[in-house]
Amino acid sequence: MAQPELLADTATGQARAAALLRAGALVALPTETVYGLAADATNDAAVAAIYAAKGRPGFNPLIVHVPDRAAAETLAAFSDMARALADAFWPGPLTLVLPLRPGHGLSARVTAGLPSVAIRVPAHPAMQAVLRALGRPLAAPSANPSGKITATAAAHVLAGLGDRIAAVLDAGPCAVGVESTILAPEPGGTRLLRDGGLPREGIEPLTGPLIADTTPGARIEAPGQLASHYAPDTRLQLGGPPEPGDIVIGFGHVTCHVNLSPRGDLTEAAAQLFAALHQADALAQAQGATAIRVAMIPDTGLGRAINDRLRRAAAPRA
Ligand code: AMP
Ligand code: MG
Repeated sequence: MAQPELLADTATGQARAAALLRAGALVALPTETVYGLAADATNDAAVAAIYAAKGRPGFNPLIVHVPDRAAAETLAAFSDMARALADAFWPGPLTLVLPLRPGHGLSARVTAGLPSVAIRVPAHPAMQAVLRALGRPLAAPSANPSGKITATAAAHVLAGLGDRIAAVLDAGPCAVGVESTILAPEPGGTRLLRDGGLPREGIEPLTGPLIADTTPGARIEAPGQLASHYAPDTRLQLGGPPEPGDIVIGFGHVTCHVNLSPRGDLTEAAAQLFAALHQADALAQAQGATAIRVAMIPDTGLGRAINDRLRRAAAPRA
């Protein structure tokens, strides 16, 4: 494909994005979590193109984005708990895995043939504007090649997928910076499928203790839960003393090449995480370094999502 269109975050850019999506094209769109590689979720060929562009295995289901809970309720069956979670945290970085409703109209590829669907209402005004202009749900996994570092800026999208998409709408870096938290509210309790931008501590007052199901490789429902993910090209080492030549990613008041948050703030660290990995990878290539070294950070609040990404980024590659 030719160079993608670079769309500004204006009414004109948003309208162009919606028009391209209506015609079945792939458009990378900003959300508050990460950049999404979006396609019309009701268009089978467009959804197939997402998998092809990312090199994503066809059995790894996609998250469907809708503008509000009413739109979500046309696609999935909401329990009282699902509704309470939606009302508390939508729009925002929470994805709910819910039973599909008959007549949902989604491409079967979106759910990889599962009887459930993962749905989110994003808060980003550009994504909201495109969803409302389009009037159809958007399937949108992260806008990066499968298994590689997540895109949290338009430049990351262009570097990873620039030759495979019709356009990218550039609204600057993502505010949250890590993917959504994924929950499956079920009769026996609410399962946590992925730590993400909405910390557990904020959810449990509503749900009671979450049934955590997020250990890498523990129980594989989809490759998003596989051990190796978010991987830089350079080997990532977790913890241990830096060896000469290592590119070091730090947190807090430490000496390092790239700092997630000099003041030790987890919100800032989450927002910086993937940009830091991209930057460290580029530095390593430029300097011929064989490893990027990073220490795990406090395992609380957003720290859990960050450590999860770091563990998977450091995991042995398949
Ligand atoms: P992402 O890779 O960020 O697009 O997130 C997609 C992830 O959501 C998948 O890898 C799964 O872990 C999860 N997911 C999506 N749909 C479902 C589903 N129907 N049931 C369970 N998990 C799902
Ligand atoms: Mg991803």
